[in-house]
Amino acid sequence: MTDPDCIFCKILAGEIPATIVGEDERTVTFMDINPATRGHMLVIPRTHAADLLSVDAEDLRAVAIASQRQAVRAKELLRADGVNLVNSCGAVAWQTVFHFHVHVIPRYVDDPLRLPWVPVPGDPAEIAAAAQELAAAPRT
Ligand code: 5GP
Ligand code: ZN
Repeated sequence: MTDPDCIFCKILAGEIPATIVGEDERTVTFMDINPATRGHMLVIPRTHAADLLSVDAEDLRAVAIASQRQAVRAKELLRADGVNLVNSCGAVAWQTVFHFHVHVIPRYVDDPLRLPWVPVPGDPAEIAAAAQELAAAPRT
């Protein structure tokens, strides 16, 4: 399935240029045009799905495996010191392109990226209340 208005579907169709660095039966990996660090890649399923909540389970599995493969390559070939895998699901979570994708962001000692939140201990009662709401449905 493709979405004619989707920029990543256009990349898959060859209608928009992209620097492709990996592909398999279910996924394609290409360079992000606004790299957060050197070697920032995007892994996408060939089949259009808007986000994490709607992507086919087999495609999700394939994207996860391809992301691991590219993380290994970033360490070996770009000499990255670490890697972040990032997925944003929903506009409120910073998603801007609504074709499911995982960012593979190589990390380097002294690179400029910083955690976007300040870890502070939470209110134990509020943590427990959220857990209780999550546990209300059967565990999956
Ligand atoms: P999101 O914000 O949805 O998590 O990530 C979308 C990513 O797609 C952004 O990092 C953005 O730089 C990248 N992007 C947007 N348009 C294009 C494009 O036309 N080509 C490539 N290669 N990357 C794109
Ligand atoms: Zn698409």
